[in-house]
Amino acid sequence: MSTATATIYDDLALVKEELSRCMKCGNCQAVCPVFITEKTEGGVARGKIALAQAIIDGTIDLDDPDMYEHIFNCLVCKSCMQNCPTKVNFDKIIFALRAAIAKKKGLHPVKKNIFKLLHNYKPLFDLGMRAGGAFQGLFMKQIPSRQGRQLRFPIGILDRKRILPSLSATPFRSQVPEKVTVKNPQATVAFFTGCSINYIYPQFGQDIVTVLKKNNVNVIIPQDQHCCGVAVFAHGDVQTAREMAKANLDALEKTNADYVVFGCGSCASTLSHEYKEMLKGDADYAEKVEKWSKKSIEISTFLMKKIDFRKPEGVVNATVTYHDSCHLKKTMKVFNEPREIIKSIPGVTFKEMSKPDACCGSGGTYNLTHYETSTGILKRKIDDINKTKADVAVTACPGCLIQIIDGIEQFGEGQKGTHYISLLAESYRNEKKNGKK
Ligand code: SF4
Ligand code: SF4
Repeated sequence: MSTATATIYDDLALVKEELSRCMKCGNCQAVCPVFITEKTEGGVARGKIALAQAIIDGTIDLDDPDMYEHIFNCLVCKSCMQNCPTKVNFDKIIFALRAAIAKKKGLHPVKKNIFKLLHNYKPLFDLGMRAGGAFQGLFMKQIPSRQGRQLRFPIGILDRKRILPSLSATPFRSQVPEKVTVKNPQATVAFFTGCSINYIYPQFGQDIVTVLKKNNVNVIIPQDQHCCGVAVFAHGDVQTAREMAKANLDALEKTNADYVVFGCGSCASTLSHEYKEMLKGDADYAEKVEKWSKKSIEISTFLMKKIDFRKPEGVVNATVTYHDSCHLKKTMKVFNEPREIIKSIPGVTFKEMSKPDACCGSGGTYNLTHYETSTGILKRKIDDINKTKADVAVTACPGCLIQIIDGIEQFGEGQKGTHYISLLAESYRNEKKNGKK
């Protein structure tokens, strides 16, 4: 059944009230990574709000040839929202603009086919990713790196300086059983892997399972979970994103878990926040969306706030700095918990960078569509990391990590980039070696 009530993603005019709260002060300029890099009013929230108003008033048409670039030149990092005195929910405005343009002009055929494959032909998408994992070495150049195998297109399909992670020939969800149980569990969680952990960083998935087992937690990894849909939603294909949201809610419902945990800030914020708005007015899913958005929790919050966290005792000798993913910090409001975990690891020295929550420039697919601006933003992040003299840069978001590793290879000082949960898993694994357990 389709949604019964029109949302801001169905009717742009419904964002009028949100637009009216903008007092045009320009505070958003000081923190907008796009504005700081490009210095154009069109890049910042205030400019896009004026654009949305003009579209609603009928003085500019969505068919205007420059419109697409204006609407998509934004990372949806929500930095502007942190600095806005009237608390304008700019994320809602930009998503509504993108939904409106997709509705009016249709999606680009490449996006349309990828989203269709991702949603309607999941086994085929999975097969494609496995084939990519098996054969990528034939058409990509391998780069020796501290980050494990990294790849580069030998011809100029993408910017030749760009470093990409390799795909796993065996996705994470095919490496593990659907249920991992322990004796005397403290809780049972569903693990929402997201695409990046499943196809690119299966080791992080293994590390999350290790950490949960060490904390006496049963883990269910639903095999019928989908992509969370954030990229589809952010490109304006709200209908496909809604269908993906429903499929995920149905998959989670079958688990009967106490919580659903995430190793990715973007997936976590999509399930805990965006699904509610996307499915507003859909009576068939009202209960499920309410229930699972409340149960959606990033793994650090689960470990520190929902169970008795077992402090690790294995030594990991490293100087570590932490990058806050925009979705985790600015949407989920998770800041302390990953730091507490990192600082609990014996042997770790923690160094805060000066702007840990400044966007890294990833923005999902923004680093593909706007590589130059994205790299300017990334360069500032890597300069900040370099100043800490840390030898390991960690984050809670695989998307940020792909970006940061690309940045380290171009502007860094040989740091290792990884997920903070992998440091914790390493500490647990080292306990035997250190004679602790
Ligand atoms: S900070 Fe908020 S109120 Fe000020 S211009 Fe930006 S969006 Fe408008
Ligand atoms: S969401 Fe981020 S990139 Fe977009 S306007 Fe706000 S601060 Fe700038």
